[in-house]
Amino acid sequence: MKTMSCDLCESEFSAETFEEWFNQMKEHYMSDHADFMKEAQNKSKEEGMKWMADMKAKFESL
Ligand SMILES: [Zn+2]
Repeated sequence: MKTMSCDLCESEFSAETFEEWFNQMKEHYMSDHADFMKEAQNKSKEEGMKWMADMKAKFESL
């Protein structure tokens, strides 16, 4: 089990895999960072992919 915090606040989420962690983050983003989610929709797919890759690398390095 790994624990990694949200990249926007101090909330922490524990999961066995990055996919599990990301699913928890998605719900957290939608409820706590709705404004950020709205902005993210205007960003390019590349930026979204980069975020995913960065977060996955961070999770895997824990
Ligand atoms: Zn957060």
